[in-house]
Amino acid sequence: MSDAGGPAPRRVSVPVRVGSVTVGGDAPVVVQSMTNTDTADVDSTVAQVSSLARAGSEIVRITVDRDEAAAAVPKIRERLERIGVFVPLIGDFHYIGHKLLADHPACAEALAKYRINPGNVGFRDKRDTQFSQIIDIALKHDKPVRIGVNWGSLDQELLTRLMDENAESERPVSAAAVMREAIIRSGLLSAERAEELGMGRDKIILSAKVSQVQDLISVYSELGRRCDYALHLGLTEAGMGSKGIVASSASMGILLQQGIGDTIRVSLTPKPGGDRTREVQVAQELLQTMGFRSFVPVVAACPGCGRTTSTVFQELASDIEENIRLSMPEWREKYPGVEALQVAVMGCIVNGPGESKHADIGISLPGTGETPAAPVFVDGKKVATLRGPTIADDFKQMVADYIEQRFGQ
Ligand code: SF4
Repeated sequence: MSDAGGPAPRRVSVPVRVGSVTVGGDAPVVVQSMTNTDTADVDSTVAQVSSLARAGSEIVRITVDRDEAAAAVPKIRERLERIGVFVPLIGDFHYIGHKLLADHPACAEALAKYRINPGNVGFRDKRDTQFSQIIDIALKHDKPVRIGVNWGSLDQELLTRLMDENAESERPVSAAAVMREAIIRSGLLSAERAEELGMGRDKIILSAKVSQVQDLISVYSELGRRCDYALHLGLTEAGMGSKGIVASSASMGILLQQGIGDTIRVSLTPKPGGDRTREVQVAQELLQTMGFRSFVPVVAACPGCGRTTSTVFQELASDIEENIRLSMPEWREKYPGVEALQVAVMGCIVNGPGESKHADIGISLPGTGETPAAPVFVDGKKVATLRGPTIADDFKQMVADYIEQRFGQ
């Protein structure tokens, strides 16, 4: 037997305060998301930021792409605070970010952090003044920045130079390796430049997003080795539905297991009219299933098989999960610590009692040919046996009583 197992020690990073939230250092890995509304549309943006925050997004990024959007930012901040939403807002700037921040000081103040893309607001040649201006404004307002490289908008001059160097090298590497190096260097050189301009390391977060799982793992592993800036993880263009969820979870899960990553965003492409909060839920589930954080009580349910006599157990598991989801906003206030609760709903005697004993409260429903009785386990001990048509309702009541008794104040 061995004690080995679990994630690698967290990579050492300099903590950065983003409004009321700390990213990096010993702080828990932060969940963030981004709106897809037109920021100039104050009503829609307030509604979406609010729903993302209520779903558990601890930081929300909004696009600031033109004067109308920049002018709307302080109004959005104010409206959110009036309805009790204090989530830090991040401005996503490209191309003319320097101008928007300079022309709209109230926007610069209302934001908790500025995202700069070195690919289109670089620090070299003619773009140096644009980059410097954003850094100067961030220093003036005492705001951190995220230097966010994205390989869809990579600094082409830097990439060309590295390609040329590689072609002349005695040991050339693949074009993909040069691309990865360009992404890493773009972030690191920009961060160094920000430091030269007077920005502290405690004000800089780095990200280097790519769209392929293996590239993401490779880029962040190297980035993590070469610097101690706090790192924002995210697979860009992850895709729709299960593909996006699997790709994001596989890549970020491996990096988190290696101790790399201080904040994550799961970028899912929602279906038209789809729920934007899904990306927050997936990010939370990723962190929770890996044991890094607890956000909502977990319901463990077996998949069911030929031993299952009815769909009662699937319905019960789904009912309890739905009830938890709907109740969490209230429970967070009323029952501190309830997010650590584990409930088990199992379909028969094969794994039912064992799994139920491991949960805080669990039920093992009767399978084919078993006595029609459902033992309930609380804190590892059998406390009751439920029978008859009210099994599901009786168990739901027992879960409610358990929560009240253990987490009620
Ligand atoms: Fe099948 Fe029973 Fe296992 Fe559920 S616990 S999958 S019903 S054998």
